[in-house]
Amino acid sequence: MKCKICRQKAVAELPQHRMALCQPCYLDWFPSYAKKTIKKFAMLEPDERILVAISGGKDSSALWRVLVDLGYEADAMIIDLGIGDQEGLGLEGEAYSSTSTEFAREQAQLLGRDLWVIDLREQIGRSVPELRRGQRPVCSACGLVKRYFMNRAAFEAGYDCVATGHNLDDEVGALFGNVLTWDTHYLSRQGPVSPLRGERLIKKIKPFCYFTERETAMFSLLAGIPYMREECPNAVGATTITYKELINRLESQAPGTKRRFYDGFLRERDLFRKQEEDVVLQHCLSCGMPSPLETCGFCRLVGDVSVTRFGALGESREESNA
Ligand code: AMP
Ligand code: ZN
Repeated sequence: MKCKICRQKAVAELPQHRMALCQPCYLDWFPSYAKKTIKKFAMLEPDERILVAISGGKDSSALWRVLVDLGYEADAMIIDLGIGDQEGLGLEGEAYSSTSTEFAREQAQLLGRDLWVIDLREQIGRSVPELRRGQRPVCSACGLVKRYFMNRAAFEAGYDCVATGHNLDDEVGALFGNVLTWDTHYLSRQGPVSPLRGERLIKKIKPFCYFTERETAMFSLLAGIPYMREECPNAVGATTITYKELINRLESQAPGTKRRFYDGFLRERDLFRKQEEDVVLQHCLSCGMPSPLETCGFCRLVGDVSVTRFGALGESREESNA
């Protein structure tokens, strides 16, 4: 197998793009394809300040690196969710969240950019596993908490947008789940860009939405990016993983299936839009962040806790000394 560009020995096969590339050509191709995606969806203006939400995993770590290499002003934030360091919850010894945070710190040093570390226990007095109610998986509460702090940190610290590492597999898996249940609310919101709404709901972008999980993993490996290989212990058995496996089977029989499904959805998404526009956002009476109801989902979940107030998240910032 030869590299499509330079005819040297290829190391990465990209069936979705009907080509194979050698290491140097892959390291050139990947950021330039991300740049094209950013342009296609008009995600960013050149001078916008970006806050990359990083998990310490391959996708978001690669995203931070690529955005910085493309010349963007990109800092990052990580929420230490306290997963894997509790006793008696069946997760002992994994230290998932604290290890992820260490990888994020290493990356911040390498890139010479600022990292904001938000410790959930300091903020709300509880970790994600302690938000579990009954036997229900804690993933939806975890997602809510992450979205809340991504937005709040970007708003308070004056960033123009939040970038997440969602890849094509994440997007297609979520889309598949939302189609199975015909969840028109989520279908109307899903996509590569969620524009600014009001002044407190910051723009969210997904510059890696066209890369498969394999493609970002390959980039992280070939580029020597430090990242956490372990998956979240809570994700074991999650339905989205089953959806991803199913879709991968379809993709291996007909390469390009994921991309066609996603692009087809984006073309027709307006079918679900009307309903979303009718939702009027107000400011949560408890915390002041945007909410369709008087009290936002985060405050309903965590109750009456005193989260760091506007402007004070700066205390969590870790300046790079590189
Ligand atoms: P997940 O919800 O784990 O599928 O992650 C989706 C995206 O959310 C990742 O690509 C990151 O951009 C972001 N993210 C996940 N976990 C964290 C975290 N602990 N702190 C900040 N951002 C995160
Ligand atoms: Zn609130």
